[in-house]
Amino acid sequence: MELNQALALIRRVPDFPEPGVLFQDITPVLGDPGGFKAVIDAMASEVGSDGPVDAIVAIDARGFFFGAAVAYSLGLGVVPVRKAGKLPAVGGKATYSLEYGTAELEIPSDVIKPGQRVAVIDDVLATGGTANAACELVELAKGEVAGITVLLEIGALGGRSRLVGRKVHPLLTV
Ligand code: AMP
Repeated sequence: MELNQALALIRRVPDFPEPGVLFQDITPVLGDPGGFKAVIDAMASEVGSDGPVDAIVAIDARGFFFGAAVAYSLGLGVVPVRKAGKLPAVGGKATYSLEYGTAELEIPSDVIKPGQRVAVIDDVLATGGTANAACELVELAKGEVAGITVLLEIGALGGRSRLVGRKVHPLLTV
């Protein structure tokens, strides 16, 4: 399947999870074999454009699908950055604000090695708080952020203003 056909599978759901939010539902992409392969291949190519990387950081929860598949396709390991309280061995915590609420992310201890170049992967870049927190956690673990790759960027929410100086690779910007 062509990438643009795959991206056309993203479903927009108004007023979820609360009034005023237009939710970008990527589950139809995940469920389509050709669509999933097209987006994983494209994300892997974007990651490659930042030069050699040593690991993929995937953001809880939908970023796990994309991050794990991209890591496998590139022959890399995947490091989950998780919502607070899920990891048994925490290497650091970052608090941030969302389009709808606030949250905390944690990184596992001693999985990213000092000096490793890391690509951060998520499904959607909205206000940028989540991606920025994940980058801060990589740096707390003494890794280097090579770039951030997402399926979809919601341009109007200004996520890039929180990611100044970082390379951001969306497959689609709306
Ligand atoms: P943000 O921190 O505002 O950039 O939000 C990004 C995170 O929240 C990602 O992990 C997304 O999965 C999720 N998210 C935020 N806004 C949306 C949206 N409109 N549709 C789908 N997911 C969203």
